[in-house]
Amino acid sequence: MTDDAAATPTCLARPLPGPDEGLTGCAAARGVDGRPLHAAALKFFWGPMDCGKSTMALQMNYNHARQGRRGLVTTRIDRSLGPQVTSRIGLAHSAVEVTDSLDLRALVRDSWAEGVRVDYLICDEASFYDVAHVEQMAELVDSFDVDVYAFGLATDFRSCLFPAAQRLFELADEVARIQVEVLCWCGREGLLNARVVGGRVVREGEQVVIGDTVQTAEVRYQVLCRRHYRSGDLGPRA
Ligand SMILES: [Zn+2]
Repeated sequence: MTDDAAATPTCLARPLPGPDEGLTGCAAARGVDGRPLHAAALKFFWGPMDCGKSTMALQMNYNHARQGRRGLVTTRIDRSLGPQVTSRIGLAHSAVEVTDSLDLRALVRDSWAEGVRVDYLICDEASFYDVAHVEQMAELVDSFDVDVYAFGLATDFRSCLFPAAQRLFELADEVARIQVEVLCWCGREGLLNARVVGGRVVREGEQVVIGDTVQTAEVRYQVLCRRHYRSGDLGPRA
């Protein structure tokens, strides 16, 4: 059985839209020469599961907050399945859940309307966002002078880029692979997120299925090197 739609990597070929005219009422503060006071940037930090993305996201939020900056933390489908960012080493922070209908620009505008400054966004699990959300991040940087730090997986269980991750690679000012290495059982660097169902690596199916939950107890994910992802060998302890 093959699933052509699921097996074909997506190609967005999507031009970047211009600014949303309805949201220009809260343009960034500018100096006397008209230039932005701060050179905001969109940065994407990526890596496989377990490499510490959420930990780094929360550390970055802490570092900025300590310098007196105000930020918002967003997430989608956190492992806690609640509106918060949690890390495997035990950190947690409340977060705004990114839904299909959420507009990140409106989120910032609403905060400003309440008199709460937003200097930056921390967007965890960004590979699960929509492509439109990534474009909103770019607009927040360019037109609103808000820094955006996105964290997420690059590829899905089929080894194909998530659409939002692809858009981040296309649009981000800076892209960095997180340098905390996750090792395959063989000791090589882990690169790919294998979906394991019934003890076997599967390569077809829905792009997003949350593992380790009550509803999907039979689905789990394991980080493998490319060699063992290809062979489907989960190691001696699998
Ligand atoms: Zn391996």
